[in-house]
Amino acid sequence: MNAQSPRKSSNKQRCYDSPLQYIKGIGPKRAAALEQAGIQSIQDLLYYFPFDYLDRSRIVTIRDLPKYVNGDKPVTIIGEVFRQEMRRSRRSNRLVFFLTVKDQTGSLPCVWFEGVQWYKDAFEKGEMLALSAYPDFDKLGRIQFAHPEFDRLKGAEEEDEPDWGKLFNTGAIIPKYRSTSDLSRVGLDSRGFRRVIRNALKSRVGHIDELLPDEIRSRVKLGSIEAALEHIHFPSSYENLNSACRRLKFDELFFLQLMLAYRKRRVGEEVKGITYTIESTLARALAESLPFELTKAQRRVINEVAADMRSAKPMNRLLQGDVGSGKTIVALLAMLVAVDNGYQVAFMAPTEILAEQHYRTLTSHLQSLPVNVRLLIGGQKRRLRGEILEDTRSGRAQIVVGTHALIEENVEFARLGFVVIDEQHRFGVLQRATIREKGYNPDVLVMTATPIPRTLALTLYGDLDVSVIDEMPAERRPIKTAIRMEHQKEKVYQFVRDEVARGRQVYVVFPLIEESEKIDLKAATAEFERLQGDVFPDFKLGLLHGRMKSEEKEKAMLSFKAREIQILVATTVIEVGIDIPNATIMIVENAERFGLSQLHQLRGRVGRGADQSYCILMADYGWFDSPRRGRDAGELKREKRDAQTRLETMGSTSDGFRIAEVDLKLRGPGEFFGIRQSGFPEFKIASLVEDGELIALARNEAFALVDRDPQLRSPSNAGIRRHFELHYKDVLPLIRVG
Ligand code: ADP
Ligand code: MG
Repeated sequence: MNAQSPRKSSNKQRCYDSPLQYIKGIGPKRAAALEQAGIQSIQDLLYYFPFDYLDRSRIVTIRDLPKYVNGDKPVTIIGEVFRQEMRRSRRSNRLVFFLTVKDQTGSLPCVWFEGVQWYKDAFEKGEMLALSAYPDFDKLGRIQFAHPEFDRLKGAEEEDEPDWGKLFNTGAIIPKYRSTSDLSRVGLDSRGFRRVIRNALKSRVGHIDELLPDEIRSRVKLGSIEAALEHIHFPSSYENLNSACRRLKFDELFFLQLMLAYRKRRVGEEVKGITYTIESTLARALAESLPFELTKAQRRVINEVAADMRSAKPMNRLLQGDVGSGKTIVALLAMLVAVDNGYQVAFMAPTEILAEQHYRTLTSHLQSLPVNVRLLIGGQKRRLRGEILEDTRSGRAQIVVGTHALIEENVEFARLGFVVIDEQHRFGVLQRATIREKGYNPDVLVMTATPIPRTLALTLYGDLDVSVIDEMPAERRPIKTAIRMEHQKEKVYQFVRDEVARGRQVYVVFPLIEESEKIDLKAATAEFERLQGDVFPDFKLGLLHGRMKSEEKEKAMLSFKAREIQILVATTVIEVGIDIPNATIMIVENAERFGLSQLHQLRGRVGRGADQSYCILMADYGWFDSPRRGRDAGELKREKRDAQTRLETMGSTSDGFRIAEVDLKLRGPGEFFGIRQSGFPEFKIASLVEDGELIALARNEAFALVDRDPQLRSPSNAGIRRHFELHYKDVLPLIRVG
């Protein structure tokens, strides 16, 4: 069945606009509760996917439970409610709820100490449950489940429900649905959802319109949407569950990419940008004065940027490259082209420290060239600030470096033609939009040092073109990374003494202290005093932390750079972009507490010169062994294992992409990218981490479709158009009807 079938298109009762009450088992009360939960149509209900399935590989019989005591995962049994009772604990005098279930092999007591009053009325004799927990022994040595999670499979008297307990043995996969207390109250717990969704599917079979044209489906090898919706809820094998997932993920990714394709297309069609002349005396002069050869990757990226600048289409390019890969010089060459064409450049950094450093880097590169570079940051004297603003307004300032305040405040440019945004690892989707809304129409180059797997970049920055510097300057020596334990500390100190005696400089980084959590981490200041007084009395140490005033920070950094200080003790504020080639040792204290990308960024602070550099990660896993508020043993165990994975990864690779992948897997995309930002796609079923291959396929198909049939006029694209009309209304005006 497909969208063109005449029978289908004449069918007025389309799936997506049918009210819920058409479904058997849904009356006004349930319909209202579902609506409250955002499920308003049969379509919504069919797209209410299970969050999980009972894991058949974890299902065991009651008789076998003792084998799973002390296991590292909970196990599940399927049994029938047999007896239930409240008892008063003799020791604590509190009420305890006992539930006994049995299967063909035996019976199992389950016990609840909390929420007793609720559980007391929760179960019905003869009801079939799936119960999951870590089995353990009670005081008398009998196996029990304490506070198991449970899922209702079948009520005692039900005729129309399949007997999941039996079906399970023949291979059925049981879906689990999320519910809320409001939904449970009207019988829509996991079991309730199973029933109404089963009914919804029954009533819709043969009426679910295909969204995608056959052409795309056969190219990408996707099943029908109808089969996918059936099998996502009630798969008969893991195989058809997988193909259902693949189809539904593809749909999600495809429509997102389609939207990005339209966005990108609009940029090209309606907005006219600057056409630059690429020949630039300034850029040539700089390139010739560089004390090094540009890498092949740098040259390739410069060509990509130049092509954008030459074209009338406004540039929207993401420049990705690991820390130290040489992005700044690439950006600077492009900036000089803009300056030579008579335009102004804004160079935005995420923090003031970084803005200052970029300013210094730029001015030192441009020393002998007639380019007027200004720095605009907070805390400048009013007169100076007024002067800089005036220079910016008049156009005398050719390059203005600053934080995002550059475009947000009432800063006026005479002829802003080029914007460089150094985001480090922030993702400023919003700021990018602001530039355009302000009426500027410059070329935009976004630099990020967070290596993102390419397919992921295509989604997060899907409306940008992406350039990657995937090669480090040649004379860099790989940094040696070592993981050391607390008891090896004296050896580490001795190593530091030797290196400093040879003229090298050292960073010692401490994790930030969260006062609320009384964690036993050394305050950077206390440790600074100890290091200066007891450990390195012969050297000069400096301190840098987030609570210092910016002049103090700057002073500390400058004296480190001038080698007046040999060892800089710091909190993570140094993470962002400090560039001091003579610093060759990075010591990270309590490295187990740092995120992987953070560690990678820190390590990137050394190895910037020609000398051998070292990164020493001091680990103290004991931190995870002591119980702490709000964390149970299982969580701590996982946290510890993750910490070990992080450090092992650091020890085994310096490839930023590889590290980013591991980090993404450990933390998931939400955490990986920091706070959720507007514009960050949220998926129901697709995963930015795991579905790289599908993302690429979906992107190809979506972009090709927009080239082939931009107005979605072809009848075979009617399904896509309808879906778009329904869910992406805001984008629709882009599809001009003509
Ligand atoms: P990123 O911004 O990507 O972290 P930078 O542009 O700050 O990297 O470059 C890091 C250091 O490497 C700077 O000191 C820079 O001058 C130097 N550098 C850049 N390109 C090269 C190259 N091709 N060969 C040698 N050194 C380079
Ligand atoms: Mg840099």
